[in-house]
Amino acid sequence: MAKPGYKRILLKISGEVLMGPQGFGIDLATVGRVADEVIAAQKTGAQVALVIGGGNIFRGIAGAAKGMERVAADHMGIMATVMNALAMQGVLEAKGCEARVLSAIAMPTVCETYSAAKGRHLLEEGRVVICAGGTGLPYFTTDTGAALRAAELQCGALFKGTSVDGVYAADPKTTPGAKRFETITFDEVLAQNLKIMDAAAIALARDNNVPVVVFSIREAGNVAAVLQGNGRFTTVTKN
Ligand code: UDP
Repeated sequence: MAKPGYKRILLKISGEVLMGPQGFGIDLATVGRVADEVIAAQKTGAQVALVIGGGNIFRGIAGAAKGMERVAADHMGIMATVMNALAMQGVLEAKGCEARVLSAIAMPTVCETYSAAKGRHLLEEGRVVICAGGTGLPYFTTDTGAALRAAELQCGALFKGTSVDGVYAADPKTTPGAKRFETITFDEVLAQNLKIMDAAAIALARDNNVPVVVFSIREAGNVAAVLQGNGRFTTVTKN
């Protein structure tokens, strides 16, 4: 398979990836394994920006379902993503990889506030840029934040790490033998309602021509392998 050769990528992982076997919160050993993936990806020569979700700690919609006011609940979810980002920064730095958290919501005593210019500059310097806080706005998700940051930071692709090795016509865990796609278009993903990312994120990636590469984050070494065109993944493109 041809080498994708992306110079700069945005890697999106859900918060759930960080909870490891404990089923909730942040498992530092698991954060370490994901950090190793990021470091290996950088070693291929790519610049890496990261967006981490917050679902391992708090999801606004779950709080709202239990009677919380949605905006406040989403702000809690946004802060959960900052906690994950700080954990990842700490682990990356401990491994000798320079990383910076840039938050969509200002918290100047905790980390720097996001700007595209700052993010691009840090990436050029070879730092891992962890974009925390999603879009910074309630009613959005970190998938949409990832599509937005990938466009703003002029990334060649949005790498969406999932628990399966690409895009399927149905969930392969519940539908054995479900059709798997090597490539698919954003419009097909939307028309078939395939659950890769929410519709707002897919539309944003489509409209800004950011390809989405869907692959399994559960296999060690996979981010670097996919970056080099090896391994199994599905590429979602405009046409
Ligand atoms: N969130 C938000 N706006 C954003 C990104 C996230 O309000 O731009 C909140 C929202 O409540 C969401 C939570 O943060 O449920 C955690 O993000 P997400 O569900 O995307 O995390 P993931 O499922 O990727 O772990």
